[in-house]
Amino acid sequence: MCRPAFRLITLCLLAFGFCINVSFGQRHDTGILGEGKPWQTPYHIQDSGVEGPTVLITGGIHGNEPAGYRAAEQIRHWPIVRGKLIVVPRVNRFGLDQNTRFIPNAEAEQQDLNRNFPIQPNAEGPRGEIALALWDFAVEHDPDWVIDLHEGFEFNLTHNPADGKKKSVGSSVIYCGGELDPIAERIVDAANETVTDPDRRFSLLRRGPVDTSFARACINCLGAEAMILETTFKDQPLSLRTRQHRAMASVLLQHIGVIDHDCRDILAPPKSNERLLVGCFDGPGTGSSRDHLWSVVDAADDMTLHHLGSADMTPEILKQFDVVVFPGGSGSKQAQAIGEEGRRAVREFVNSGGGYIGVCAGAYLCSSHYDWSLNLINASVFTGTREIPGQGSKQMWYRGGWADIDMEITAAGQAIFGDVNKRVTVRYSNGPIISRKDHPDLEDYRVLAWFRSENGLWEPQQGTMIDTPAIVSGGFGNGRVISVSPHPEYTEALHPIITGAIRWVADQARTRRVSVERRGLFDRASTNLVQPRGELVGVSIL
Ligand SMILES: [Zn+2]
Repeated sequence: MCRPAFRLITLCLLAFGFCINVSFGQRHDTGILGEGKPWQTPYHIQDSGVEGPTVLITGGIHGNEPAGYRAAEQIRHWPIVRGKLIVVPRVNRFGLDQNTRFIPNAEAEQQDLNRNFPIQPNAEGPRGEIALALWDFAVEHDPDWVIDLHEGFEFNLTHNPADGKKKSVGSSVIYCGGELDPIAERIVDAANETVTDPDRRFSLLRRGPVDTSFARACINCLGAEAMILETTFKDQPLSLRTRQHRAMASVLLQHIGVIDHDCRDILAPPKSNERLLVGCFDGPGTGSSRDHLWSVVDAADDMTLHHLGSADMTPEILKQFDVVVFPGGSGSKQAQAIGEEGRRAVREFVNSGGGYIGVCAGAYLCSSHYDWSLNLINASVFTGTREIPGQGSKQMWYRGGWADIDMEITAAGQAIFGDVNKRVTVRYSNGPIISRKDHPDLEDYRVLAWFRSENGLWEPQQGTMIDTPAIVSGGFGNGRVISVSPHPEYTEALHPIITGAIRWVADQARTRRVSVERRGLFDRASTNLVQPRGELVGVSIL
Protein backbone atom coordinates (compact mmCIF):
# COMPACT_ATOMS: atom_id res chain seq x y z
CA MET A 1 0.00 0.00 0.00
CA CYS A 2 1.40 3.41 -0.94
CA ARG A 3 1.93 5.95 1.82
CA PRO A 4 -0.79 8.48 0.94
CA ALA A 5 -3.34 5.65 0.87
CA PHE A 6 -2.23 4.52 4.32
CA ARG A 7 -2.50 8.09 5.63
CA LEU A 8 -6.00 8.39 4.23
CA ILE A 9 -7.09 5.19 5.92
CA THR A 10 -5.48 6.30 9.17
CA LEU A 11 -7.30 9.62 9.01
CA CYS A 12 -10.58 7.88 8.23
CA LEU A 13 -10.10 5.56 11.19
CA LEU A 14 -9.34 8.44 13.53
CA ALA A 15 -12.32 10.36 12.15
CA PHE A 16 -14.52 7.28 12.56
CA GLY A 17 -13.40 6.93 16.20
CA PHE A 18 -14.23 10.58 16.74
CA CYS A 19 -17.65 10.15 15.10
CA ILE A 20 -18.49 7.25 17.39
CA ASN A 21 -17.91 9.53 20.34
CA VAL A 22 -19.86 12.38 18.84
CA SER A 23 -22.78 10.51 17.29
CA PHE A 24 -23.45 8.49 20.42
CA GLY A 25 -22.82 11.53 22.60
CA GLN A 26 -20.30 9.86 24.95
CA ARG A 27 -19.65 12.31 27.77
CA HIS A 28 -17.54 12.32 30.91
CA ASP A 29 -18.27 15.01 33.47
CA THR A 30 -16.88 15.67 36.89
CA GLY A 31 -18.53 17.95 39.41
CA ILE A 32 -18.50 18.75 43.10
CA LEU A 33 -21.19 17.74 45.55
CA GLY A 34 -21.61 20.37 48.27
CA GLU A 35 -19.40 22.82 46.42
CA GLY A 36 -17.93 25.39 48.79
CA LYS A 37 -18.73 23.32 51.90
CA PRO A 38 -15.80 22.05 53.96
CA TRP A 39 -16.85 18.44 53.17
CA GLN A 40 -17.28 18.99 49.40
CA THR A 41 -16.60 15.87 47.38
CA PRO A 42 -16.33 15.04 43.66
CA TYR A 43 -18.82 13.11 41.57
CA HIS A 44 -18.30 11.66 38.10
CA ILE A 45 -20.85 11.10 35.36
CA GLN A 46 -20.24 8.91 32.33
CA ASP A 47 -23.04 9.14 29.79
CA SER A 48 -22.88 6.53 27.01
CA GLY A 49 -25.33 8.48 24.87
CA VAL A 50 -27.15 5.17 24.37
CA GLU A 51 -30.49 4.55 26.02
CA GLY A 52 -30.18 2.43 29.11
CA PRO A 53 -30.32 2.45 32.88
CA THR A 54 -28.89 5.18 35.06
CA VAL A 55 -26.69 3.64 37.74
CA LEU A 56 -25.57 5.54 40.84
CA ILE A 57 -22.61 4.07 42.72
CA THR A 58 -21.70 5.50 46.12
CA GLY A 59 -18.62 4.76 48.22
CA GLY A 60 -17.28 6.02 51.52
CA ILE A 61 -20.62 6.77 53.21
CA HIS A 62 -18.93 5.22 56.24
CA GLY A 63 -15.44 6.69 56.61
CA ASN A 64 -13.73 3.60 58.03
CA GLU A 65 -14.65 1.43 55.04
CA PRO A 66 -11.95 2.38 52.52
CA ALA A 67 -12.43 -0.48 50.02
CA GLY A 68 -15.77 1.02 48.97
CA TYR A 69 -14.37 4.33 47.88
CA ARG A 70 -11.16 2.86 46.44
CA ALA A 71 -13.22 0.47 44.30
CA ALA A 72 -15.64 3.24 43.29
CA GLU A 73 -12.65 5.27 42.11
CA GLN A 74 -11.67 2.32 39.91
CA ILE A 75 -15.15 1.45 38.63
CA ARG A 76 -15.82 5.01 37.48
CA HIS A 77 -13.31 4.48 34.67
CA TRP A 78 -15.01 1.39 33.24
CA PRO A 79 -16.01 1.79 29.61
CA ILE A 80 -19.81 1.80 29.55
CA VAL A 81 -21.83 0.95 26.43
CA ARG A 82 -25.36 1.78 27.58
CA GLY A 83 -27.06 4.17 30.01
CA LYS A 84 -25.29 6.38 32.52
CA LEU A 85 -22.78 5.61 35.24
CA ILE A 86 -22.73 8.14 38.07
CA VAL A 87 -20.17 7.66 40.84
CA VAL A 88 -19.72 9.55 44.11
CA PRO A 89 -16.66 7.73 45.48
CA ARG A 90 -16.04 9.60 48.74
CA VAL A 91 -19.39 10.68 50.13
CA ASN A 92 -18.26 11.13 53.77
CA ARG A 93 -14.90 12.63 52.87
CA PHE A 94 -14.19 13.96 56.39
CA GLY A 95 -14.86 10.54 57.86
CA LEU A 96 -12.56 8.90 55.29
CA ASP A 97 -9.79 11.40 56.05
CA GLN A 98 -10.05 10.49 59.73
CA ASN A 99 -10.83 6.78 59.21
CA THR A 100 -13.99 7.01 61.31
CA ARG A 101 -17.39 5.50 60.50
CA PHE A 102 -19.24 8.67 61.45
CA ILE A 103 -19.35 12.24 60.17
CA PRO A 104 -16.76 14.08 62.30
CA ASN A 105 -18.28 16.94 64.33
CA ALA A 106 -21.86 16.10 63.36
CA GLU A 107 -24.67 16.27 65.93
CA ALA A 108 -24.87 13.05 67.94
CA GLU A 109 -28.08 11.71 66.34
CA GLN A 110 -26.87 12.55 62.82
CA GLN A 111 -23.35 11.10 63.05
CA ASP A 112 -24.13 7.96 61.08
CA LEU A 113 -24.66 9.28 57.56
CA ASN A 114 -26.34 6.04 56.54
CA ARG A 115 -29.19 6.57 59.03
CA ASN A 116 -30.14 10.04 57.83
CA PHE A 117 -32.34 9.34 54.81
CA PRO A 118 -36.15 9.38 54.43
CA ILE A 119 -38.06 6.17 55.17
CA GLN A 120 -41.00 6.92 52.87
CA PRO A 121 -41.76 9.58 50.24
CA ASN A 122 -43.77 11.68 52.69
CA ALA A 123 -41.62 11.02 55.72
CA GLU A 124 -39.15 13.38 57.36
CA GLY A 125 -36.51 14.50 54.83
CA PRO A 126 -32.80 13.78 54.99
CA ARG A 127 -31.00 14.94 58.12
CA GLY A 128 -27.81 16.97 57.92
CA GLU A 129 -26.04 18.78 55.10
CA ILE A 130 -24.29 15.80 53.51
CA ALA A 131 -27.39 13.57 53.44
CA LEU A 132 -29.42 16.45 52.04
CA ALA A 133 -26.90 17.13 49.27
CA LEU A 134 -26.60 13.44 48.33
CA TRP A 135 -30.38 13.04 48.42
CA ASP A 136 -30.98 16.08 46.17
CA PHE A 137 -28.35 14.69 43.81
CA ALA A 138 -30.09 11.28 43.72
CA VAL A 139 -33.51 12.86 43.15
CA GLU A 140 -32.09 14.99 40.33
CA HIS A 141 -30.56 12.00 38.52
CA ASP A 142 -33.39 9.57 39.35
CA PRO A 143 -31.28 6.38 39.14
CA ASP A 144 -32.75 3.05 38.05
CA TRP A 145 -30.06 1.27 40.07
CA VAL A 146 -28.14 2.26 43.21
CA ILE A 147 -25.08 0.33 44.33
CA ASP A 148 -23.74 1.42 47.72
CA LEU A 149 -20.27 0.05 48.56
CA HIS A 150 -19.51 -0.72 52.22
CA GLU A 151 -17.39 -2.88 54.51
CA GLY A 152 -18.11 -4.75 57.74
CA PHE A 153 -15.76 -5.44 60.66
CA GLU A 154 -16.42 -9.19 60.62
CA PHE A 155 -17.61 -11.91 58.26
CA ASN A 156 -21.39 -12.15 58.27
CA LEU A 157 -21.29 -15.91 57.73
CA THR A 158 -19.60 -16.47 61.09
CA HIS A 159 -21.05 -13.45 62.92
CA ASN A 160 -24.74 -13.97 63.22
CA PRO A 161 -26.56 -12.96 66.40
CA ALA A 162 -28.20 -16.41 66.18
CA ASP A 163 -24.80 -17.88 67.06
CA GLY A 164 -24.44 -15.51 70.01
CA LYS A 165 -21.78 -13.49 68.16
CA LYS A 166 -21.78 -9.74 67.61
CA LYS A 167 -23.59 -9.13 64.34
CA SER A 168 -21.70 -7.87 61.33
CA VAL A 169 -22.76 -7.61 57.70
CA GLY A 170 -19.20 -7.96 56.37
CA SER A 171 -18.91 -10.00 53.14
CA SER A 172 -22.53 -9.94 52.10
CA VAL A 173 -24.91 -8.65 49.48
CA ILE A 174 -27.87 -6.81 51.03
CA TYR A 175 -30.93 -6.59 48.81
CA CYS A 176 -34.68 -7.14 48.80
CA GLY A 177 -35.25 -10.84 48.13
CA GLY A 178 -37.59 -11.91 45.34
CA GLU A 179 -37.02 -11.02 41.70
CA LEU A 180 -33.40 -10.07 42.34
CA ASP A 181 -32.50 -13.47 43.82
CA PRO A 182 -30.89 -14.93 40.65
CA ILE A 183 -28.63 -11.92 40.00
CA ALA A 184 -27.77 -11.58 43.72
CA GLU A 185 -26.68 -15.23 43.69
CA ARG A 186 -24.44 -14.60 40.69
CA ILE A 187 -22.94 -11.56 42.42
CA VAL A 188 -22.15 -13.59 45.52
CA ASP A 189 -20.67 -16.37 43.36
CA ALA A 190 -18.34 -13.85 41.69
CA ALA A 191 -17.19 -12.54 45.07
CA ASN A 192 -16.70 -16.08 46.36
CA GLU A 193 -14.36 -16.87 43.47
CA THR A 194 -11.82 -14.70 45.36
CA VAL A 195 -12.32 -16.56 48.66
CA THR A 196 -10.38 -19.64 49.79
CA ASP A 197 -11.34 -19.78 53.49
CA PRO A 198 -14.91 -21.19 53.77
CA ASP A 199 -15.56 -19.02 56.85
CA ARG A 200 -15.01 -15.92 54.73
CA ARG A 201 -17.56 -16.67 52.04
CA PHE A 202 -20.16 -14.05 51.11
CA SER A 203 -23.76 -14.35 52.21
CA LEU A 204 -27.06 -13.14 50.78
CA LEU A 205 -29.00 -10.85 53.11
CA ARG A 206 -32.43 -10.84 51.51
CA ARG A 207 -34.06 -8.58 54.11
CA GLY A 208 -32.82 -5.52 52.21
CA PRO A 209 -31.12 -2.33 53.37
CA VAL A 210 -32.23 -0.97 56.77
CA ASP A 211 -34.70 1.90 57.04
CA THR A 212 -33.11 5.38 56.92
CA SER A 213 -30.14 4.03 54.90
CA PHE A 214 -29.43 5.68 51.55
CA ALA A 215 -30.07 2.49 49.58
CA ARG A 216 -33.42 1.89 51.31
CA ALA A 217 -34.49 5.48 50.68
CA CYS A 218 -33.68 5.06 46.97
CA ILE A 219 -35.86 1.91 46.89
CA ASN A 220 -38.78 3.37 48.86
CA CYS A 221 -38.84 6.95 47.60
CA LEU A 222 -37.29 6.82 44.10
CA GLY A 223 -38.49 3.38 43.05
CA ALA A 224 -34.91 2.35 42.27
CA GLU A 225 -33.44 -1.11 42.56
CA ALA A 226 -30.66 -0.99 45.13
CA MET A 227 -28.03 -3.23 46.65
CA ILE A 228 -25.46 -2.73 49.36
CA LEU A 229 -22.27 -4.63 48.60
CA GLU A 230 -20.21 -5.35 51.71
CA THR A 231 -16.64 -6.57 52.03
CA THR A 232 -14.87 -7.22 55.37
CA PHE A 233 -11.94 -5.12 56.53
CA LYS A 234 -10.75 -7.54 59.20
CA ASP A 235 -7.45 -9.25 58.31
CA GLN A 236 -7.85 -8.81 54.57
CA PRO A 237 -5.71 -6.62 52.30
CA LEU A 238 -7.33 -3.72 50.49
CA SER A 239 -6.33 -5.19 47.13
CA LEU A 240 -8.58 -8.20 47.84
CA ARG A 241 -11.49 -6.13 49.12
CA THR A 242 -11.42 -3.75 46.15
CA ARG A 243 -11.19 -6.79 43.84
CA GLN A 244 -14.29 -8.25 45.50
CA HIS A 245 -16.20 -4.99 45.03
CA ARG A 246 -15.11 -4.83 41.38
CA ALA A 247 -16.07 -8.46 40.78
CA MET A 248 -19.55 -7.91 42.24
CA ALA A 249 -20.13 -4.60 40.44
CA SER A 250 -18.92 -6.09 37.16
CA VAL A 251 -21.49 -8.91 37.31
CA LEU A 252 -24.33 -6.50 38.07
CA LEU A 253 -23.36 -3.89 35.47
CA GLN A 254 -23.04 -6.60 32.81
CA HIS A 255 -26.42 -8.02 33.84
CA ILE A 256 -28.14 -4.68 33.21
CA GLY A 257 -26.12 -4.08 30.04
CA VAL A 258 -24.20 -0.99 31.17
CA ILE A 259 -20.89 -2.71 30.41
CA ASP A 260 -20.50 -5.45 27.80
CA HIS A 261 -17.62 -7.46 29.27
CA ASP A 262 -16.09 -8.38 32.61
CA CYS A 263 -14.30 -5.24 33.85
CA ARG A 264 -13.07 -6.47 37.25
CA ASP A 265 -9.45 -6.25 36.07
CA ILE A 266 -9.75 -2.59 35.10
CA LEU A 267 -8.29 -0.68 38.03
CA ALA A 268 -7.00 2.49 36.48
CA PRO A 269 -7.97 4.87 33.70
CA PRO A 270 -5.97 4.97 30.48
CA LYS A 271 -2.65 6.59 31.39
CA SER A 272 -2.27 10.29 30.90
CA ASN A 273 0.59 12.60 31.73
CA GLU A 274 -1.42 14.34 34.43
CA ARG A 275 -1.14 11.82 37.26
CA LEU A 276 1.23 8.96 37.92
CA LEU A 277 -0.53 5.67 38.50
CA VAL A 278 1.22 3.88 41.33
CA GLY A 279 0.41 0.30 42.34
CA CYS A 280 1.57 -0.77 45.82
CA PHE A 281 1.75 -4.46 46.65
CA ASP A 282 -0.18 -5.25 49.87
CA GLY A 283 -0.28 -9.06 49.79
CA PRO A 284 1.39 -11.66 52.01
CA GLY A 285 4.89 -10.72 53.19
CA THR A 286 4.16 -7.00 53.52
CA GLY A 287 4.43 -5.19 56.86
CA SER A 288 3.67 -1.76 58.30
CA SER A 289 6.07 -0.07 55.84
CA ARG A 290 3.27 -0.59 53.32
CA ASP A 291 0.86 1.72 55.21
CA HIS A 292 3.51 4.44 55.47
CA LEU A 293 4.24 4.20 51.75
CA TRP A 294 0.50 4.49 51.01
CA SER A 295 0.34 7.70 53.04
CA VAL A 296 3.28 9.15 51.14
CA VAL A 297 1.78 8.29 47.73
CA ASP A 298 -1.74 9.39 48.73
CA ALA A 299 -0.37 12.74 49.90
CA ALA A 300 1.45 13.43 46.60
CA ASP A 301 -0.82 15.55 44.42
CA ASP A 302 0.56 14.13 41.16
CA MET A 303 0.05 10.43 42.07
CA THR A 304 -2.89 8.04 42.36
CA LEU A 305 -2.46 5.02 44.62
CA HIS A 306 -3.90 1.59 43.90
CA HIS A 307 -3.46 -1.50 46.05
CA LEU A 308 -2.25 -4.59 44.23
CA GLY A 309 -2.39 -8.15 45.51
CA SER A 310 -1.01 -11.40 44.14
CA ALA A 311 -4.04 -11.74 41.83
CA ASP A 312 -3.16 -8.38 40.27
CA MET A 313 0.35 -9.41 39.23
CA THR A 314 -0.63 -10.03 35.61
CA PRO A 315 0.63 -8.28 32.47
CA GLU A 316 -2.91 -6.94 31.77
CA ILE A 317 -3.21 -5.26 35.15
CA LEU A 318 0.40 -4.12 35.60
CA LYS A 319 0.41 -2.33 32.26
CA GLN A 320 -2.28 0.00 33.63
CA PHE A 321 0.37 1.47 35.97
CA ASP A 322 3.43 3.68 35.69
CA VAL A 323 5.14 2.35 38.79
CA VAL A 324 4.88 -0.67 41.06
CA VAL A 325 6.06 -0.46 44.69
CA PHE A 326 7.04 -3.43 46.86
CA PRO A 327 7.20 -2.41 50.55
CA GLY A 328 8.96 -3.71 53.66
CA GLY A 329 8.15 -7.09 55.20
CA SER A 330 9.67 -10.32 53.92
CA GLY A 331 11.17 -10.47 50.43
CA SER A 332 10.97 -14.26 50.19
CA LYS A 333 7.33 -14.28 51.34
CA GLN A 334 6.40 -11.59 48.81
CA ALA A 335 8.18 -13.58 46.09
CA GLN A 336 6.32 -16.71 47.12
CA ALA A 337 2.99 -14.84 47.26
CA ILE A 338 3.21 -13.50 43.72
CA GLY A 339 4.62 -16.80 42.45
CA GLU A 340 6.66 -17.48 39.36
CA GLU A 341 4.02 -16.09 37.00
CA GLY A 342 3.73 -12.90 39.03
CA ARG A 343 7.52 -12.46 39.11
CA ARG A 344 7.64 -12.90 35.36
CA ALA A 345 4.87 -10.32 34.95
CA VAL A 346 6.72 -7.77 37.13
CA ARG A 347 9.96 -8.29 35.18
CA GLU A 348 8.10 -7.90 31.89
CA PHE A 349 6.38 -4.77 33.20
CA VAL A 350 9.73 -3.16 34.02
CA ASN A 351 11.37 -4.47 30.86
CA SER A 352 8.71 -2.76 28.77
CA GLY A 353 9.16 0.61 30.46
CA GLY A 354 7.48 0.38 33.87
CA GLY A 355 9.06 1.66 37.07
CA TYR A 356 9.91 -0.45 40.15
CA ILE A 357 10.52 0.78 43.70
CA GLY A 358 11.55 -1.77 46.32
CA VAL A 359 11.84 -0.78 49.98
CA CYS A 360 13.67 -3.12 52.39
CA ALA A 361 11.93 -6.46 51.57
CA GLY A 362 11.14 -4.98 48.15
CA ALA A 363 14.86 -4.25 47.80
CA TYR A 364 15.74 -7.88 48.59
CA LEU A 365 13.11 -8.86 46.02
CA CYS A 366 14.62 -6.81 43.17
CA SER A 367 18.20 -7.99 43.84
CA SER A 368 19.80 -10.72 41.77
CA HIS A 369 20.88 -12.76 44.77
CA TYR A 370 18.25 -15.41 45.48
CA ASP A 371 16.53 -18.01 43.35
CA TRP A 372 13.31 -16.08 44.08
CA SER A 373 14.79 -12.66 43.22
CA LEU A 374 13.40 -10.57 40.42
CA ASN A 375 16.92 -9.97 39.03
CA LEU A 376 16.25 -6.32 38.28
CA ILE A 377 19.27 -4.84 40.09
CA ASN A 378 22.79 -6.18 39.71
CA ALA A 379 23.30 -6.80 43.44
CA SER A 380 24.47 -9.50 45.84
CA VAL A 381 23.21 -9.45 49.42
CA PHE A 382 25.30 -9.94 52.57
CA THR A 383 23.57 -12.94 54.15
CA GLY A 384 24.03 -16.60 55.07
CA THR A 385 24.52 -18.23 58.46
CA ARG A 386 27.57 -18.08 60.69
CA GLU A 387 28.47 -19.99 63.84
CA ILE A 388 28.66 -17.51 66.73
CA PRO A 389 30.62 -18.85 69.72
CA GLY A 390 28.25 -19.56 72.58
CA GLN A 391 25.21 -18.41 70.52
CA GLY A 392 24.88 -21.08 67.87
CA SER A 393 24.09 -20.59 64.21
CA LYS A 394 22.92 -17.04 63.34
CA GLN A 395 21.46 -15.46 60.20
CA MET A 396 23.65 -12.61 59.00
CA TRP A 397 20.83 -10.60 57.39
CA TYR A 398 19.28 -10.15 60.84
CA ARG A 399 20.90 -7.18 62.55
CA GLY A 400 18.43 -6.59 65.39
CA GLY A 401 15.46 -4.28 65.87
CA TRP A 402 14.78 -0.87 64.41
CA ALA A 403 17.80 1.47 64.34
CA ASP A 404 18.54 5.04 63.30
CA ILE A 405 21.34 5.07 60.74
CA ASP A 406 23.38 7.94 59.26
CA MET A 407 22.95 8.14 55.51
CA GLU A 408 24.74 10.31 52.96
CA ILE A 409 22.93 11.14 49.75
CA THR A 410 25.12 11.34 46.65
CA ALA A 411 24.90 14.07 43.99
CA ALA A 412 23.02 11.61 41.78
CA GLY A 413 20.61 10.95 44.64
CA GLN A 414 20.06 14.65 45.29
CA ALA A 415 19.22 15.17 41.63
CA ILE A 416 16.44 12.58 42.00
CA PHE A 417 15.21 13.24 45.54
CA GLY A 418 15.34 17.04 45.40
CA ASP A 419 14.59 18.69 48.68
CA VAL A 420 16.48 16.44 51.13
CA ASN A 421 19.60 17.20 53.18
CA LYS A 422 22.82 15.56 52.08
CA ARG A 423 23.41 13.97 55.50
CA VAL A 424 20.32 12.49 57.15
CA THR A 425 19.26 9.99 59.81
CA VAL A 426 17.04 7.23 58.45
CA ARG A 427 15.15 4.37 60.10
CA TYR A 428 16.55 0.95 59.30
CA SER A 429 15.22 -2.56 59.89
CA ASN A 430 17.37 -5.33 58.39
CA GLY A 431 17.30 -4.06 54.83
CA PRO A 432 19.73 -5.68 52.38
CA ILE A 433 23.44 -4.86 52.55
CA ILE A 434 24.39 -5.05 48.91
CA SER A 435 27.48 -5.22 46.72
CA ARG A 436 28.00 -5.50 42.97
CA LYS A 437 27.23 -8.92 41.56
CA ASP A 438 28.51 -8.79 37.95
CA HIS A 439 25.37 -10.43 36.61
CA PRO A 440 26.03 -10.80 32.85
CA ASP A 441 22.58 -9.52 31.81
CA LEU A 442 22.35 -6.54 34.15
CA GLU A 443 23.96 -3.13 34.03
CA ASP A 444 25.84 -1.75 37.05
CA TYR A 445 23.78 0.09 39.61
CA ARG A 446 24.35 3.72 40.49
CA VAL A 447 24.61 4.66 44.17
CA LEU A 448 22.08 7.29 45.29
CA ALA A 449 22.88 7.10 49.03
CA TRP A 450 25.47 5.47 51.32
CA PHE A 451 25.09 4.08 54.83
CA ARG A 452 27.51 6.06 57.00
CA SER A 453 26.91 4.15 60.22
CA GLU A 454 25.74 0.62 60.91
CA ASN A 455 23.67 -1.73 62.98
CA GLY A 456 24.45 -5.32 63.93
CA LEU A 457 24.37 -7.97 66.62
CA TRP A 458 27.28 -10.26 65.88
CA GLU A 459 31.00 -9.87 65.34
CA PRO A 460 30.98 -11.06 61.66
CA GLN A 461 28.55 -8.25 60.84
CA GLN A 462 30.89 -5.52 62.06
CA GLY A 463 32.13 -3.24 59.32
CA THR A 464 29.94 -4.90 56.67
CA MET A 465 27.24 -2.21 56.55
CA ILE A 466 29.03 1.11 56.99
CA ASP A 467 29.96 2.79 53.68
CA THR A 468 27.89 0.34 51.62
CA PRO A 469 25.07 1.50 49.28
CA ALA A 470 21.79 2.32 51.03
CA ILE A 471 19.86 3.31 47.90
CA VAL A 472 20.76 2.38 44.31
CA SER A 473 19.19 2.81 40.88
CA GLY A 474 19.50 0.82 37.70
CA GLY A 475 17.92 0.28 34.33
CA PHE A 476 16.22 -2.92 33.27
CA GLY A 477 15.22 -3.13 29.62
CA ASN A 478 13.17 -0.02 28.93
CA GLY A 479 12.34 0.49 32.60
CA ARG A 480 13.97 1.87 35.72
CA VAL A 481 14.43 0.49 39.21
CA ILE A 482 15.27 2.05 42.59
CA SER A 483 16.20 -0.23 45.46
CA VAL A 484 15.91 1.34 48.95
CA SER A 485 17.36 -0.68 51.84
CA PRO A 486 16.28 1.59 54.76
CA HIS A 487 12.84 3.08 55.51
CA PRO A 488 12.63 6.78 54.56
CA GLU A 489 8.81 6.46 54.49
CA TYR A 490 8.82 6.52 58.33
CA THR A 491 10.36 10.04 58.48
CA GLU A 492 8.37 12.93 57.09
CA ALA A 493 11.45 14.96 56.12
CA LEU A 494 12.59 12.00 53.98
CA HIS A 495 9.33 11.49 52.06
CA PRO A 496 10.82 13.29 49.03
CA ILE A 497 13.13 10.27 48.69
CA ILE A 498 10.08 8.09 47.98
CA THR A 499 8.19 10.56 45.80
CA GLY A 500 11.37 11.58 43.94
CA ALA A 501 12.20 7.91 43.34
CA ILE A 502 8.69 7.21 42.03
CA ARG A 503 8.82 10.19 39.65
CA TRP A 504 12.26 9.18 38.40
CA VAL A 505 11.43 5.54 37.66
CA ALA A 506 8.15 6.67 36.05
CA ASP A 507 9.92 9.09 33.77
CA GLN A 508 10.87 6.40 31.28
CA ALA A 509 7.27 5.26 30.78
CA ARG A 510 6.11 8.84 30.61
CA THR A 511 8.72 9.83 28.04
CA ARG A 512 7.69 6.94 25.81
CA ARG A 513 4.06 7.93 26.15
CA VAL A 514 4.75 11.55 25.22
CA SER A 515 6.69 10.49 22.14
CA VAL A 516 3.84 8.25 21.00
CA GLU A 517 1.32 11.03 21.63
CA ARG A 518 3.47 13.49 19.73
CA ARG A 519 3.42 11.20 16.73
CA GLY A 520 -0.35 11.51 16.90
CA LEU A 521 -0.85 7.78 17.11
CA PHE A 522 -2.05 7.45 20.66
CA ASP A 523 -5.77 7.47 21.20
CA ARG A 524 -5.98 8.14 24.91
CA ALA A 525 -9.63 7.27 25.30
CA SER A 526 -9.28 3.75 23.99
CA THR A 527 -5.56 3.08 24.62
CA ASN A 528 -5.41 1.92 21.04
CA LEU A 529 -2.69 2.54 18.51
CA VAL A 530 -3.23 2.89 14.82
CA GLN A 531 -0.71 0.52 13.32
CA PRO A 532 0.84 0.99 9.89
CA ARG A 533 -1.51 -1.51 8.30
CA GLY A 534 -4.44 0.60 9.32
CA GLU A 535 -5.62 -1.76 12.06
CA LEU A 536 -6.52 -0.79 15.59
CA VAL A 537 -4.58 -2.93 18.02
CA GLY A 538 -4.14 -2.94 21.79
CA VAL A 539 -1.03 -1.31 23.15
CA SER A 540 1.29 -3.51 25.11
CA ILE A 541 4.24 -1.16 25.53
CA LEU A 542 2.34 1.51 27.42
ZN1 LIG B 1 -20.92 0.83 56.05
